[in-house]
Amino acid sequence: MTALWGAGGDLVVVEQDIELHRTVLSQFRRCPEPWCVFPYNGPGYGGADGGDPTLSGALGCVRFRATLMATHPGLMADVGNVDDAPGLGRGDWRRLDVRVLGALRDQGYAAHLHFPAVFQHHVFHGLCACGTEHEPYPVDREGRYAPEG
Ligand SMILES: [Zn+2]
Ligand SMILES: [Zn+2]
Repeated sequence: MTALWGAGGDLVVVEQDIELHRTVLSQFRRCPEPWCVFPYNGPGYGGADGGDPTLSGALGCVRFRATLMATHPGLMADVGNVDDAPGLGRGDWRRLDVRVLGALRDQGYAAHLHFPAVFQHHVFHGLCACGTEHEPYPVDREGRYAPEG
């Protein structure tokens, strides 16, 4: 992320478990806002386990304009160099989304939300966040895809 931040052009991030729909990239292309986000279902989708039902500031489906990155060229390197969670290493990916969110809000930005939301297929507690019972894939303790063997 640090290498891509401000490397030229806009930056679109789509995490591996996000299901896009057909207007995502065209909305990103057309919208003039500097920081655009498609929300998606979080761990509490469908009322399960009291988690956040909708993630609106995460990095799963986001576009940063080149102008934003040029205005704050050190932002990603700075947030990647923070040690703010016991047990996690400096710059750990599990805190990157909230650090980026906080750093951009501190600079006076607000995520520009786009709809319809996209869909996340992330396994929390043995159940996919999408709420359907499609083929479960093997995951590690953090819910990351972990092929067996
Ligand atoms: Zn936008
Ligand atoms: Zn799913």
